[in-house]
Amino acid sequence: MQRIVLASSNRGKLAEFNALLAGSHFKVIPQAELGVEDAEETGLSFVENALLKARHAAQITGLPALADDSGLCVAHLLGAPGLYSARYHGRHGDSAANNARLLGELEGVPAEQRGAFFISVLALLRHANDPAPILAEGRWHGRILEAPRGTHGFGYDPLFLPHEQWLSAAELAPSLKNRLSHRAQAMAQLHARIAEPQPDPCP
Ligand code: IMP
Repeated sequence: MQRIVLASSNRGKLAEFNALLAGSHFKVIPQAELGVEDAEETGLSFVENALLKARHAAQITGLPALADDSGLCVAHLLGAPGLYSARYHGRHGDSAANNARLLGELEGVPAEQRGAFFISVLALLRHANDPAPILAEGRWHGRILEAPRGTHGFGYDPLFLPHEQWLSAAELAPSLKNRLSHRAQAMAQLHARIAEPQPDPCP
């Protein structure tokens, strides 16, 4: 089994990534278990931040590293909250305040101009200087509701109505969200990339 460090402090993601990599030769270890602290997310895009996080964990541990970066992009707000999704209102992880700010920014904006997507980018580095990381991306399209609906999920789920659904992301059964979501799409793509034969892998 090849150990791989998960560059995230979100322990909830560990099970998801272990499931993703089940059947591969990777065993996922959360970075906190190896004494790695969160990297500074100084990138200007999701892909840059995913790479920064993975490279930081690979540098410190000497192991291959997997990182993800995700968020919500609203077209009417030119992609905001974007990289700042977790702290749109100011304080990291205050979902109620973030959702309230989003509703405020979109006050009076009609339904057809409330298009948005969740994005998840995954980066897998075989070592800290890997010049050819494996990248995967998923996007989940929909629109922002006028008021929160539902109690499942987290973050902006109560305000997100996925395309072709009557239920918000927080009203969908979690098992269905986990099949449709940006993260599920990115994970499926990464899984396919890992399964591809690598005739000439970088050392
Ligand atoms: P992170 O990738 O865990 O740092 O997530 C960034 C932020 O994006 C989260 O704190 C949420 O606000 C938002 N976000 C990412 N994925 C989802 C989702 O599936 N539902 C709702 N909000 C999400």
